Amino acid sequence: MNKEKNLWQTVLQQLDETAKRINLEPWIHQKLQKSKRELTVSIPVKMDNNSVEIFTGYRVQHNITRGPAKGGIRYSPEVTLDEIKALAMLMTWKCAIVNIPFGGAKGGVVCNPGKMSEEELERLTRRYTSEIISIIGPERDIPAPDIATNSQTMAWIMDTYSIDKGYSVPGVVTGKPIAIGGSEGRTKATGRGVVYTLLNTLKHLDLNIEGRRVVVQGYGKVGSVVVDLLFKEGCRIIGVGEIDGAVYKADGLNINKLNKHREKSGSVVGFKEADIISNKKLLELKCDILIPAALENQVTEDNASRIKAKIIVEAANGPVTPAADKILKEKKIFIVPDILANAGGVTVSYFEWVQGLQSYFWTEREVNLKLRDIITKAFYKVLEISLKKKVPMRMAAHILAVNRVAEATRIRGLYP
Ligand code: GLU
Repeated sequence: MNKEKNLWQTVLQQLDETAKRINLEPWIHQKLQKSKRELTVSIPVKMDNNSVEIFTGYRVQHNITRGPAKGGIRYSPEVTLDEIKALAMLMTWKCAIVNIPFGGAKGGVVCNPGKMSEEELERLTRRYTSEIISIIGPERDIPAPDIATNSQTMAWIMDTYSIDKGYSVPGVVTGKPIAIGGSEGRTKATGRGVVYTLLNTLKHLDLNIEGRRVVVQGYGKVGSVVVDLLFKEGCRIIGVGEIDGAVYKADGLNINKLNKHREKSGSVVGFKEADIISNKKLLELKCDILIPAALENQVTEDNASRIKAKIIVEAANGPVTPAADKILKEKKIFIVPDILANAGGVTVSYFEWVQGLQSYFWTEREVNLKLRDIITKAFYKVLEISLKKKVPMRMAAHILAVNRVAEATRIRGLYP
């Protein structure tokens, strides 16, 4: 993985450029440059072989001016405090863009989940929860799934938190299983949001969806949903990839068959009806739409000039570095930035939280319709700023987000 640019430096630079453009008061700018809280914990876990391993975990709350902190928890060997700080800041902007009453947070544990058993992951999750228990809660900070965590992880967090309180507290996490208060449509929400922003983009650019050549990097919780939905919309999915490699077929992959193959083998690689290519090549394929749905820093200074897509929709957080962004701008590639494109997940997390507070649950259709409304409204608001101020969609999204957070900060004032 290319780590040419630290994501924390990137988001700070983006904030500085935005602050300059909107003439942000220095005190608000400086406040937003810092996280509200950063908690580092050490997590001792008994492993299956009876040894004890000490893991490091983080929970960072960037901002809580507009409401409780909100954001996922990721398990990965690559997790660093800087990365979690950056992702927490991006969550602040994301929630502001879709105008839901949350601030931004993120959590992470440095571990290798692929090499751990289900039991070890459960013990790790429960001990991590217990270590951060004083700063989370339905009114404080509400975790959700992110890389390598899922609804089961959320169930363990909810259970650990609830046992500590002595009663069930479903509102402490979102992305829970439906059986304990999860929302219909939450698992597919991020992917669905990505597709809604793409449909709006095509409409704006006066392009049809039918037959569009799409490349998706990442075939996890987000990428696989995006692929399924776009295949149903009539797109030609010419390339998809995951960590161990990618597959390519010029006239379009048969996604139903590919999914069957993946169910059996655990990976898209090895699918007989396609060529195997590297992930590097995958990003550089000639296509209409490129959707990075894996990790940050995928399109960099090194490969940006070879990107041939006309549209990039950032399903992952931070997949394009600022240096790459400049090159793609020259190439007139239309980029839907992460904080808009992947805000569908946190939007349905908000729905889950609201449904939990009311103990009144909606149908999947209701959830999807409300999601589409919110994402579409956010898309057009960002587009309006982009056209009016003649700035790329990323800058427009940041202007909208920082302005909303700044307005709330001004109105609340400074204590004491
Ligand atoms: N981890 C997801 C994100 O990066 C979802 C966060 C949430 O639902 O709170 O947006």
